[in-house]
Parts: sequence; C-alpha cells; structure tokens
Amino acid sequence: MIHTNEWKPDTCKCSIQYTWDDSVPVDQRVHTPTQILKECPEHSGLGDVTPFYNAILSENTRKNLTVNHLITFDELAREVLKDGNPVREFISKINWFFTGSDDNRILNIDLSSTSLTTQKKTQIQKFADNLFGDGKVLIIG
Ligand SMILES: [Zn+2]
Repeated sequence: MIHTNEWKPDTCKCSIQYTWDDSVPVDQRVHTPTQILKECPEHSGLGDVTPFYNAILSENTRKNLTVNHLITFDELAREVLKDGNPVREFISKINWFFTGSDDNRILNIDLSSTSLTTQKKTQIQKFADNLFGDGKVLIIG
C-alpha cells in the first residue's frame, strides 16, 4: 500500500508531501516527493518538486549530522539516563541558522558562547568541510 505523508523540516518553513510503499522492505524504502505544500521565501526559486525536496533534505541532513557531531563534545553536552539508557543532551543551546537561498544555503553555527577552544572549533570546521565540502557549514564565534 502507498502511504502519503507531509514532511516539515525543522530547518525552514517549507512543507512537502511524499509517498512511501509499505510493501517494500524497511531497509529499501524510499520517500518519493510528490507535491510542494508550502514554499518558504528562501526556497521559492527551486521550481519543480524534486530539486525542491533535494535542497531542503540536504539542508536538514547537514544540520542533523553537524549537531550530532557537536553533541559528542563534553564542553557542549553531557550524558544523562533516559529510561535507564545513557543518552547525550546539550548543556547549552546551540545557535544555528542558514543564510543564502535555494540550493545554495550555508549552515552557520555560532559557538561564541561555548567553552570550546579555538583549536576545537577549527577541528569542527574541518569535520564539516570534509563531510559536506568547503563553504557549506560556517563555524562562527
Ligand atoms: Zn524552505
């Protein structure tokens, strides 16, 4: 059976409709974008649903992978027990935002209020450059 869902990323105000097929094994399922439900001002120049979906998914993935890296630093996060299992949570809010438009947006991460050393901030910048290519993530502060 084909299911239809709406996806609203936490990286902008866009909304997209996608379908997936429950007859396909879980590890092989794909989300097929079918309709743009809402376009934020930053993503109004992408045209068709596929480049639109690719752009907002790419930004969301980039933000998630970068935040998942930041949470490994003891200056930024600590381990707590949740339902008896150790999980990490941030001890201070990480301020991130995007600049630019369409499929050319830059993830900015402001680490100015953290106790990370300049050396560690440089390491984080290099981690992001290696993972996403130069100029996709900008560590500031
Ligand atoms: Zn958007």
